[in-house]
Amino acid sequence: MSFDTIIRGGSVVTATDTYPADVAIAGGKIVAIGADLSSSGVGQNAKVIEASGKLVLPGGIDVHTHLDMPFGGTTSADDFETGTRAAAFGGTTTLIDFAIQYKGQALRQAFDTWMGKAASKAVCDYAFHCIMTDVSGGQLAEMNDLVREGVTSFKLFMAYPGVFMLDDGSIFKALQRTSQNGGLICMHAENGSAIDVIVQQALAEGKKAPKYHALTRPTTAEAEAVSRAIALAEMAGAPIYIVHLSCNDALEKVREARDRGLPVYAETCPQYLYLSIENFDAPGFEGAKYVFTPPLRDKWHQEKLWQGLQRDHLQVVSTDHCPFCFKEQKEMGKDDFTKIPNGGPGVEHRMSLIYSGGVARGRFSANRFVELVSTTPAKLFGLYPRKGTIAVGSDADLVVFDPKRKHTISAKTHHMRVDYSMFEGIEVTGMPDVVLSRGRVVVEGDKFLGKAGQGEFLRRAMYAQVNG
Ligand SMILES: [Zn+2]
Repeated sequence: MSFDTIIRGGSVVTATDTYPADVAIAGGKIVAIGADLSSSGVGQNAKVIEASGKLVLPGGIDVHTHLDMPFGGTTSADDFETGTRAAAFGGTTTLIDFAIQYKGQALRQAFDTWMGKAASKAVCDYAFHCIMTDVSGGQLAEMNDLVREGVTSFKLFMAYPGVFMLDDGSIFKALQRTSQNGGLICMHAENGSAIDVIVQQALAEGKKAPKYHALTRPTTAEAEAVSRAIALAEMAGAPIYIVHLSCNDALEKVREARDRGLPVYAETCPQYLYLSIENFDAPGFEGAKYVFTPPLRDKWHQEKLWQGLQRDHLQVVSTDHCPFCFKEQKEMGKDDFTKIPNGGPGVEHRMSLIYSGGVARGRFSANRFVELVSTTPAKLFGLYPRKGTIAVGSDADLVVFDPKRKHTISAKTHHMRVDYSMFEGIEVTGMPDVVLSRGRVVVEGDKFLGKAGQGEFLRRAMYAQVNG
């Protein structure tokens, strides 16, 4: 066997091990891991990427992005080309985005629409969860068809009444389905009905500035919904995955359920680890940059979430990347916070923010970092072991990561198609040098070498196949 590429002299980091080794690639796959592969006869003609002093990581997997998504009267600013490109610059080589089923539609229609948005544009591999907003027709039965075709997870909302929210009976029926078909339900857990009342009362009192987005969505509304979601999943005998968990109250509910041995999982996002309600003190209307849901919380929650990651009460870090430009998009809500499109940009800096705050700060190991940003996402969402690890036979989605390089995050230098950064001015330690997607170099330093349409749709295994 001959090698196409060898990554030489780096320190290979997986969720369990750290060791010096060369990694050899052929045909887009990892074909050998060992000492001095480049000096063996077979390696002579291979392209060599020097990695001494660097970490070699499996490509990041971000299981929560919203590219090219219509929402709040506008559309998220990154499409599948700019979004996957920005992801690659940050060391993330697989995205799981969301195909939205609108009321009255078949799930199939949602899937076809989002495939159309991604297919010719994505520069790295992608998959979809299917958002279900209506289960009154044949959609429950259709869930089985999608699972067979590799769309093995579904997202439901307990928030946004009249738009996305499902009642408890509908949620319960969908959970019963996944307990039978091996899929996984992802839940946006906030008590949308109560929040709507609080929001209407605030507006009536003339409270319309961006900070009221946060002040009208209490942590108790999130914790209550997390607890209810877990109870419904337990009754249905189904696993459940809580998306974008933002506060300690909700974390406590997940921890209690996991202590009882239930298959309950949760992700958090960098914004909840780095930002807080104090960001709404920004001058003028700039607080709108931090309007996303769940909202930012009091600062003390940050350390609780970092501890949750360290102790495995939280299993995944995703971004909920949903960018809207400050000019013209966020500005739609200048006079009324409920008109500000909800969402923030984050897909590019997840790996560096979590490495920096987690590993460089001494909160957890590089192995735990890999587990949070790549391995566990791959396992829960049916991509493992093709993705999420460095092993012979796995896709050569690899990141040569410089653990010492410092970088100050700024909208001036980022690659996301949005006119501000939520993390403007934050200095991180640890940056990707070279990023490969299925054996092809897509990013080298500040050069982009990928191509639109190179990304492949990933048919995923069932949760139950990988984890059951
Ligand atoms: Zn989201």
